[in-house]
Order: sequence, then C-alpha cells, then structure tokens
Amino acid sequence: CGIVAYIGKREAYPVVLKGLKRLEYRGYDSAGVAICNGEGLQVYKKKGKVSQLEEFVTGKNMHSHIAIGHTRWATHGEPSDRNAHPHYSSDSKLALVHNGIIENYAQLKQELIKKGHVFKSDTDTEVLIHFIEDIKNNNQCSLEEAVRIALKRVIGAYVIVIVDEDHPDTLIAARKGSPLVIGVGKGEHFLASDASPIVEYTKEVVYVNDYEIAIIKADELILKNISNEIQTPFIQKLDIEL
Ligand code: GLU
Repeated sequence: CGIVAYIGKREAYPVVLKGLKRLEYRGYDSAGVAICNGEGLQVYKKKGKVSQLEEFVTGKNMHSHIAIGHTRWATHGEPSDRNAHPHYSSDSKLALVHNGIIENYAQLKQELIKKGHVFKSDTDTEVLIHFIEDIKNNNQCSLEEAVRIALKRVIGAYVIVIVDEDHPDTLIAARKGSPLVIGVGKGEHFLASDASPIVEYTKEVVYVNDYEIAIIKADELILKNISNEIQTPFIQKLDIEL
C-alpha cells in the first residue's frame, strides 16, 4: 500500500527501490516495479518482501530514467505474483500502479470482457489499464485524455501512476482519496504516497489534490483538474529531516 515513482537524470530503479523500503512500515504483501530500459517496458513483481523483488531482478538490465514501484495490500484478489502491481497490457504498452479500491470494477470488467479484453489478474486495479486502453484506442486520443475520461466513470479511492512505453519521458498520475506527494528536484521529479521516500532528494513538494491529473516530465510538472483546466502547482517546503 505504497507508491513510489521517479523520472529524471538518475538511475530510476535504485531510487524507487529505496523508496519502497521506506514505505515498508505501512505493511504490504507483494511488491513490483516497471521501468523502460533500452529494450522497452519491463515489469517485475513478486509476492513477499521488497527484498525478494530485489533478488528477483538481480542481473537484469534495470537501466532506466523512469520507474514506477508499488507495495500492495491486497483488497481484491489474493496476494500472488499475478495480482501484484504494476498491471500492464501488452497491447497498449502501458503499466500502472494503484493504491486504493475501484468500487465499480465488477461492472467495468464485464463491459470490457464483452469487448474482448482478456484479464490476467483478479484485482480491481486491472480494469483501469484495460479501460484506459479501450478509451485511448476508440477515441484515438492521448493517454492523458484517456485517463481523464476514464476517471470520470471510476468510483472509489485511488492514486494511480502510469508509464507508457511509447512515451518514456512522461509519467501520468492522478488521485482521489488516497495521498500523492510530488517532489520537485532539478531536472527530476519524485512521486510517493508520503514524503518519506522524497526528503533525502528534495524539500520542495506538491501535494496533489483530489481529481487532479499530473503530467510529469523530468523538467516539467503540469497539473490539471478533471475538466482539463490547468492548475498552478502549490510548492511547499518540507521542514522534516531524516
Ligand atoms: N485494490 C488494489 C489491489 O487489491 C490495490 C491495493 C493497494 O492499495 O495496495 O490490488
């Protein structure tokens, strides 16, 4: 039940891994990461501790300047490798992490199955990736637009962060009900469920508001509300030390 993500000049995976360890105190049953290395989008996830995920990826090409990570506290679907996040769709090359609950997932899932979507997990979360992909393909719109349209129909609490293999220079994030902090660095951004994974890198943070969507590049942070209106990010200074 934690999210960490990074985009910028550093190696992203070690930042995210360390962040996930800082969030371990929240409790969880599985962990996972997605990166975009030279060979495209890679997703690694494991039931158990973050250290087991770390062992699992040892020896793999983890070079990436973008990464999303997750620790899961299962609400829908037993703790397992298959149900761990990130969830991804091979068709659209998107990977997504989610904290919270999608209350109307069963109805959305039925609609998507009728349209031919094939589900790989028992989670409520996986409907999000198929729903967003479906909207993106049908409307021929950007990922950002598809996320906005999808979230208008989604009922529940969420923080989501998405990586798109075709745009490895951008993270898309959104929240309603669950917390999301964005750390603003020089040519880099950090995302996390609370400030603890961020403080060692930057003291400048933005708390994303409900129904806001963030479009995040290494050197740019755009916040929009669900009506597609640009919001000015309110940058706060953290006064906590590690
Ligand atoms: N409801 C999602 C699941 O069960 C996310 C749980 C969480 O917040 O970790 O996979």
